[in-house]
Amino acid sequence: MHKVVENLIKIKEEIKLNFSDLKDFKTPKIIAVSKTFGMNKILPLIEYGHLDFGENKVQEAIEKWSKIKSDNNKIKLHLVGGLQTNKVKLAVKLFDYIHSVDSEKLAKKISDEQQKQNKKVKVFIQVNIGNEEQKFGVDKLSVSDLYSYCKNHDLEVVGLMCIPPLNKSPEIFFKEMSELKKKLNLDELSMGMSSDYLDAVKNSATYVRIGSNIFGQRN
Ligand SMILES: *Cc1c(COP(=O)(O)O)cnc(C)c1O
Repeated sequence: MHKVVENLIKIKEEIKLNFSDLKDFKTPKIIAVSKTFGMNKILPLIEYGHLDFGENKVQEAIEKWSKIKSDNNKIKLHLVGGLQTNKVKLAVKLFDYIHSVDSEKLAKKISDEQQKQNKKVKVFIQVNIGNEEQKFGVDKLSVSDLYSYCKNHDLEVVGLMCIPPLNKSPEIFFKEMSELKKKLNLDELSMGMSSDYLDAVKNSATYVRIGSNIFGQRN
């Protein structure tokens, strides 16, 4: 078995071991974040049957995924990185999920592209949960307004996403995200990376985004 598949299985088993006894536990989906890695590492996962993959750059994703996605329409591709408005057209065309909606301007652009292309994507609202300067994500006090704006513009908002501050314990941020999500009555919560996914799952993440623990260190 290929190493990346072993790594994925290990993560799934670890989650099961830690949480499956909890009442109402829902197993989170794992997004294999394949940015910077080539198809030699991605194909074994697809052959194993894994379907959710994440990329953070639109151009890289187009080069890697256009063909394989048209050959396998069960694959779900998630844009987990920031999105500039001039890339929205290409992003809507390729991706199934966009995790980084954080402004009305971006939401409007996605909405316009959806109409033009007659295609819908699912979106997450990215929250700047640590209130950090120069970070993607909408202020937590503005999440509800942005959510309303998205709904009024025919965007299918499925949940909230965050990247907690580096070098701080992530748990309080995950907890706060979980409360925000409940308050807005949303289904999905995209949080948790290689270093903190167990904390995220403990706080009811429904999608974890894992790169290096599956594919190895990035250069
Ligand atoms: C790269 C990336 C990940 C995965 O990071 P790892 O630490 O390698 O698991 C998750 N989310 C986002 C937004 C990323 O850019």
